[in-house]
Amino acid sequence: MAKKEQTYFCEICRQKVVVIEEGFGVLVCCGKEMNLVGVKGMMATWTAAHHKPANGVAFVCNVCKQKIKVIEETTGILECCGQRMHREEAPDYK
Ligand SMILES: [Zn+2]
Ligand SMILES: [Zn+2]
Repeated sequence: MAKKEQTYFCEICRQKVVVIEEGFGVLVCCGKEMNLVGVKGMMATWTAAHHKPANGVAFVCNVCKQKIKVIEETTGILECCGQRMHREEAPDYK
């Protein structure tokens, strides 16, 4: 189960997201469970490639209320609890 501030990525489309609200659902992208990125690895990647994380788009699951922020956006379809997550425009999560 995802925990707040964990980073997940999709090994198929390379989409990368951060959990901002925990839910019980499993994060899925491209029809496959997303992979948890280790905290150290995430910080290293973050520092190297994301000086200013894009002002994000967030996605929320209507079933478990899990909310994620997209760091690397791709065309991959994000799902949780067996359904597509809903996009939220211009949230202000820091
Ligand atoms: Zn994907
Ligand atoms: Zn869910």
